[in-house]
Amino acid sequence: MFDSLSDRLESVFKKLRGHGRLDESNIQDGLREVRLALLEADVNFKVVKDFVEKVKARALGQDVLGSLTPGQQVIKIVHEELIELLGGENCALNLSGKPPYVIMMSGLQGSGKTTSAAKLALFLRRQKYAPYLVPADVYRPAAIDQLTKLGAELGVPVYPSTVDMNPVDICVDAMRDAELKGCSVILIDTAGRLHIDELLMQELVGIKEKCRPQEILFVADAMTGQDAVTVAEKFNEVLDITGVVLTKMDGDARGGAALSIKSITGKPLKFVGMGERLSELEVFHPDRIASRILGMGDVLTLIEKAQSTIDSKEAEALEKKFRKAEFDLEDFRTQMRRIKKLGSLEGIMKLIPGMGQIRKQLQDVQMPEKELGKVEAMISSMTMAERHEPKIINPSRKQRIAKGSGVTVTEVNQLLKNFEQMQKMMKKMAGGKMPSMPQGGRM
Ligand code: GDP
Repeated sequence: MFDSLSDRLESVFKKLRGHGRLDESNIQDGLREVRLALLEADVNFKVVKDFVEKVKARALGQDVLGSLTPGQQVIKIVHEELIELLGGENCALNLSGKPPYVIMMSGLQGSGKTTSAAKLALFLRRQKYAPYLVPADVYRPAAIDQLTKLGAELGVPVYPSTVDMNPVDICVDAMRDAELKGCSVILIDTAGRLHIDELLMQELVGIKEKCRPQEILFVADAMTGQDAVTVAEKFNEVLDITGVVLTKMDGDARGGAALSIKSITGKPLKFVGMGERLSELEVFHPDRIASRILGMGDVLTLIEKAQSTIDSKEAEALEKKFRKAEFDLEDFRTQMRRIKKLGSLEGIMKLIPGMGQIRKQLQDVQMPEKELGKVEAMISSMTMAERHEPKIINPSRKQRIAKGSGVTVTEVNQLLKNFEQMQKMMKKMAGGKMPSMPQGGRM
């Protein structure tokens, strides 16, 4: 997502940076390329036109800032206008007044509605809400099963809908049940069709009138580009949606939907889906996304991801173990599982400033996800005693571990050797001798 747009913009800015002074003609050239880059990213043409005009007016009309070169100034303006285009401030869910709150999910079939409902349940539970899921798509039994399974996986109550029930009745009864169970947020997964359908719209209006949701989120598939924007407009006309969830942003969509949806519908993008896993939902922050598009990384999102998966007491205990050089293979495995929860390594790298470029240079290098999987399998094949005291792993134990995890004995040896080195380093640190950093190295 945004990769090719980032590349295009980067080369435009490189050229602009080469000019000591910017005048109308080189700004004009630069902006022509910005325009092409945005159109190529499938951004709505009217949105592109307005955007380029705004940037141009500001670039030509502004005072020269002492601390920035003219090229940097244009980047700064593009950055600011991108933030504006993406909606300005982050728009949080509006859960105010007396609980239980109702969030209604709407959208076409296959857009990722059901998955997003479950992702939101997880997100809200992490925020200390008690979520409740309602499958209200009675036309596809598979949809009810899917949400029921996801709810069970999360340990979140799911209303026992059946295909012979009326969707509006389901929602009304579910609200009563959720309240009885002391739940604070009700997430309704409504039916979707392959295309917009008058009857379905009437049904959604019926649910809206009865349940008075605080939020009506339209779920759109980023891969469908401008179609997603057109359908969002239609849903908005009928339902007066309160926000958008854009899914499959991890795919190779060009980004047009994300960049056009606020301008065209007037409704904010609130969340983005970044993968199939339930933890892969991100709050949409226009400023962070704008930085990501311009290749500046997004460290804040990375920190938040880490914080949501690591609890601070555990981190403290771990640090102590590290300091006393007591960190063993079991701790190592626990930490590896944490890292996995942050999402794919590929996705994590994109959030680090400058990493996007480095990653591109390493295009053919496989990300070490498979390797990590192997290491985890090896540790899982060890007994607890072996994990705490790897020294006891003799040749016959090594063979057993290799067999259990489907690797070679050489790979087991490599893991044990690496871990031994790591322990030596911990011991040095525990003894107050920090390993020396390379010159100028900063963390
Ligand atoms: P619904 O018909 O709108 O309820 O769509 P589903 O929730 O069943 O999702 C359709 C497909 O899209 C499923 O295979 C999901 O796993 C997948 N999906 C949903 N959200 C995302 C996402 O953010 N990224 C990716 N890669 N796949 C997603």
